[in-house]
Amino acid sequence: MARARKTVEAEEETLTPFFEWQDAYPWQRVALQARLRQRASWPQALLVHGAAGIGKRVLALNAARALLCEAAAHDEACGACESCHYVAMGQHPDLMLIEPFEREPSGETKALDAIPVDAIRRLIEFMQITSHRQRAKVAVIVPTERMNAAAANALLKTLEEPPAGSFLMLVAQQWQRLPATVLSRCQRWAAPYPSTEEALAFLRGEGVDGAEPLLAQTGGAPLTALERFDPEQQALRQDWLKALAQPHRLSPYAVAQTWAGGSRDDNKLRLGQIIETLIGWTADLARVGGGGAARYHPECREMLQPLAAAIALPELFHYHRSLLRQRRWLNHPLQPRLVVEALLIEYRALFFHRRSQ
Ligand SMILES: [Zn+2]
Repeated sequence: MARARKTVEAEEETLTPFFEWQDAYPWQRVALQARLRQRASWPQALLVHGAAGIGKRVLALNAARALLCEAAAHDEACGACESCHYVAMGQHPDLMLIEPFEREPSGETKALDAIPVDAIRRLIEFMQITSHRQRAKVAVIVPTERMNAAAANALLKTLEEPPAGSFLMLVAQQWQRLPATVLSRCQRWAAPYPSTEEALAFLRGEGVDGAEPLLAQTGGAPLTALERFDPEQQALRQDWLKALAQPHRLSPYAVAQTWAGGSRDDNKLRLGQIIETLIGWTADLARVGGGGAARYHPECREMLQPLAAAIALPELFHYHRSLLRQRRWLNHPLQPRLVVEALLIEYRALFFHRRSQ
């Protein structure tokens, strides 16, 4: 009886609050097909990893759809059978997607800092129920590094002995942060990175004007570039870069004050963008300082040159590393406003350093 009720619930519930189907991106198709040709030996625990903004989640979900597809087996999902249809609707009873969101009793969706153990318990239960459509059971976790410690622990047993016919796909950007016990039980699959041509063609197809600098700013990640393609965002970014280009006039306190009114989620999002900008900016300063070309902000060459000349490289590297560390803790910022203020004070100090020594 319990089993029957669960199935009905699964049919009623969509995969995730913001689910929208997306076919594999052009730069993913060849790798996906090659992998699916060996579907007979598809690993039960697969870690799909790679940089942000290249479509890892989409890749994993497309692989899931192909594993669940009910048409004669070939190297991709048919896109036409009932199973493919249900996956695209986000309503396939044998597919579960775990993301850090929660539905509140009011029906509202809340973003969570971490994937809680409850979500993993639901996944384990789901994996143990017999496949509804007798093809397979697939669970996808995105992003896996956001599982809290209890969740990671709960997952271990299932990773060790996955039920027959079930597949787990763990999607991760910073996969090195996953516990060794989780890593050692997964086969790894590096999500394909698009070539510059592929990424630019994609962005043009999405109607992005002036895609080149935008793509460079995001280190070649087309989905991040698409996300940032917002004229208002771009203007804000320009203001930011201008402020960074004049460290002696930069007022960390004044910048931080402009954050006073934002919501917690907004401030966290902005903090993430600012840290990314600073990471790219300091990487460029190091490259220009070493006689190379700017990678993230090639259009700012003239601004970067005098700054790079005024900076001591060891301090710059030190600061850059501290930014990378900050990015790692982004999901638990104490006070985004204070973090920004501190980061900017440190940034400014890079240029006063020699005088104060
Ligand atoms: Zn199909």
